[in-house]
Amino acid sequence: MQELGHWINGKMVAGTSGRTADVMNPATGEVQAKVALASKAELDAAVADAAKAQVAWGLTNPQKRARVMMAFVGLINRDMEKLAEALSREHGKTIPDAKGDVQRGLEVIEYCIGAPQLLKGEFTDSAGPGIDMYSMRQPLGVAAGITPFNFPAMIPLWKMGPALSCGNAFILKPSERDPSVPLMLAALLKEAGLPDGVLQVVNGDKESVDAILDNDTVQAVGFVGSTPIAQYIYSRGCDNGKRVQCFGGAKNHMIIMPDADMDQAADALIGAGFGAAGERCMAISVAVPVGEETADKLRDKLIPRIEKLKVAPYTAGDDVDYGPVVTAAAKQNILRLIETGVAQGADLVVDSRDFKLQGYEDGFFVGPHLFDRVTTDMDIYKQEIFGPVLSMVRAETYEEALGHAMDHEYGNGTAIFTRDGDTARDFASRINIGMVGINVPIPVPLAYHTFGGWKKSGFGDLNQHGPDAFKFYTRTKTVTSRWPSGLKEGGEFHFKAMD
Ligand code: NAD
Repeated sequence: MQELGHWINGKMVAGTSGRTADVMNPATGEVQAKVALASKAELDAAVADAAKAQVAWGLTNPQKRARVMMAFVGLINRDMEKLAEALSREHGKTIPDAKGDVQRGLEVIEYCIGAPQLLKGEFTDSAGPGIDMYSMRQPLGVAAGITPFNFPAMIPLWKMGPALSCGNAFILKPSERDPSVPLMLAALLKEAGLPDGVLQVVNGDKESVDAILDNDTVQAVGFVGSTPIAQYIYSRGCDNGKRVQCFGGAKNHMIIMPDADMDQAADALIGAGFGAAGERCMAISVAVPVGEETADKLRDKLIPRIEKLKVAPYTAGDDVDYGPVVTAAAKQNILRLIETGVAQGADLVVDSRDFKLQGYEDGFFVGPHLFDRVTTDMDIYKQEIFGPVLSMVRAETYEEALGHAMDHEYGNGTAIFTRDGDTARDFASRINIGMVGINVPIPVPLAYHTFGGWKKSGFGDLNQHGPDAFKFYTRTKTVTSRWPSGLKEGGEFHFKAMD
């Protein structure tokens, strides 16, 4: 059985805590590896070494650090196939999806090559007689990231790229469900020229997360995962005086107006609702058609498309639509929520509760489900299902549809499908949600914009990647200086008119 340890001081080391977690093969339901779970002592030692390594790294000029990122981009591209395969094996998503996971992380590393420009401070010449004022962005020291299972390449890259480019050392605590890809990325960063100790990948669970939150050397914590854990990390991290940003769960609504292109809307819902088995924080889990006629048309277009979805392991080829969910517990939770939907009176129009894949009976596959006539008091509406289940909530008017999205406690992403510019514009300006799509079902901002949800989907002031990340991982210092020569009376100085 393969044993996965930690990446410490530039090499793989075995865990010493004596505790491990099973890494499953979600397609077969078998344990395929064991991952070490770090103790507080192991985490604290990794942080102490990172702090030592950060001193020289923080003094390295930004362009040299950017060159490490440039080399890293080349190495990720070189190893794309290997990374995608390792990712699919532990997560269960298809190979094209796994490559997308790596690619969206890679784009943030490409953005980080611009660090010298992004880290430039500001300067005011002659703010007073002989006085200049300038601000600089300095690294925080040691920062940490705690990441979820569903994007094991993208989210670690979103965190480590900006943190390292700003001159910090970084402690990554990836999900214990799919730890291989973060370890592979750490090895590639070493090959790209990152000094040992500057990036430490510490595998673990609550014990190592708590150790991060209580370690005085760790200056900042970035978290992505479910909302209850986001809230916990945010409050404990803030209580301990750290800079903290936490991104949580989601329930993303897509409003379909009567004038929308119904085929386009249905295709979009299939990809956004069922892709990656619904295990995306930007998945659409609620469709809100406006008007009974729109709802009936949409349902008629969705049903045959859903029935055609190919659910299989990633090894079955590139025409697989989605694979298994990540664990047996995730599967049980999804099936339990589907039962509550039926019990609470929703209309289960595509029912795959008895779905079984021949040869993979022990795998964590869940067939696709469509609920119609879901109401806002039902558990399947209120809770994040994080599975291949789409709920239709019928609204009579645009205002009612908008109200549903506004009133939901989550505010990660949302979309509207319409041909009417006024409605689209009104939606974008009034909605209280962080990322908005207009005829785009999964509006994930590109690397040079920022990513983040509102309400219970995001805690803290700044977003992930883009310019916000360079603010999050640096501290601003402002210097005011006065030099006596600037005080000379009538100095002929640079203000003299040119002859
Ligand atoms: P999770 O909250 O279970 O785990 C996330 C991380 O927290 C992992 O590293 C895990 O080890 C750690 N953790 C788990 N329980 C903990 C505890 N009690 N104390 C301290 N640390 C703990 O989330 P997940 O199941 O890995 O990921 C899925 C969730 O992440 C979904 O809710 C999804 O919406 C959310 N997500 C959000 C975004 C976003 O940007 N908003 C992006 C991706 C995923």
